[in-house]
Amino acid sequence: MLKKKGLFISTLCCFFTLTTFHSFSQAPKKLKTIIVDAGHGGQDGGASGQYENSLRSKEKDVTLAISKKLVAELKKQLPELTIVPTRTTDIYQNPNEKARIANEHKGDLFLCIHADSGPLKTGRRQIGTRTVTRYKVTYTGKGKKKKKKSTPYQVTEPVYEHFKIPLTINGTSVYIFAAHKTSAKLSAIMKEVGEFEIETGDADSSYSPVDFTTPEGRTIAQIYAKRYQEKSDRLATLVNDEVDKTGRNALGVNQRQVGIAVLQATNMPAILVETGYINNPEDERYLNSEKGQQELAEVITKAVKRYKEQLETANKPN
Ligand SMILES: [Zn+2]
Repeated sequence: MLKKKGLFISTLCCFFTLTTFHSFSQAPKKLKTIIVDAGHGGQDGGASGQYENSLRSKEKDVTLAISKKLVAELKKQLPELTIVPTRTTDIYQNPNEKARIANEHKGDLFLCIHADSGPLKTGRRQIGTRTVTRYKVTYTGKGKKKKKKSTPYQVTEPVYEHFKIPLTINGTSVYIFAAHKTSAKLSAIMKEVGEFEIETGDADSSYSPVDFTTPEGRTIAQIYAKRYQEKSDRLATLVNDEVDKTGRNALGVNQRQVGIAVLQATNMPAILVETGYINNPEDERYLNSEKGQQELAEVITKAVKRYKEQLETANKPN
């Protein structure tokens, strides 16, 4: 879930992408390694099914199940790539651990798997009636002789129960991290001075380090920040398109401005897929089903394949 716990997740993902940045070159990069992050885990359960008669499923379990199938599908369809899950069991990972995993594996793409939720309204309905005794009070006499008389009588009143109303919204949304304010992103890139290399333009592809303290270096950092944003947007659009093809509600590509300011520091192509609404009955069943999990894994894999093809076509010399 991104909405209510947006800041936390975003901080997590952001920290992840912020610290996983590694050397890049000016030449369009080939897709080699994909990091798949199953959102939440361990003590951090994420959102959960809470409406009446829900499966009471937890986001951390759903994201892990989908991520496992996604990793398997990516490996099957793109055997030349290295696919790295951040977790394969129900463990809690703090951002440092996720960052360490990503750094070690030098990811070229970061796929965050989550499930959405929203505030639930409470409903009330009548489940029966009960008989209660009430008293009619009358008075006789006046002044000091005034007397109170209570006469019992029976009434029937309704008995209500309260319940959580399930969400009516369902579907899959994709989030990318707003980059029009690139200051955080730039500072993240520029922290890595000496780690980055840029192609000198020679045929032998020799590289020289970029000095981000120079105006030229700053311009280069800005170009890369924008390029990552464009790539994230392209992949997110492909995921949304593939979701749409399944007949499932494709809720589009979103940029969250509020609550995820730190995500602007993302400096590798990254998307966050809100696979479905855990508090919508149809979606909760879908997210917990083998069929639903597999379909989501295949949808994201198809999008990654198209993304990879586009990247390779763009790389081809004329
Ligand atoms: Zn989440």
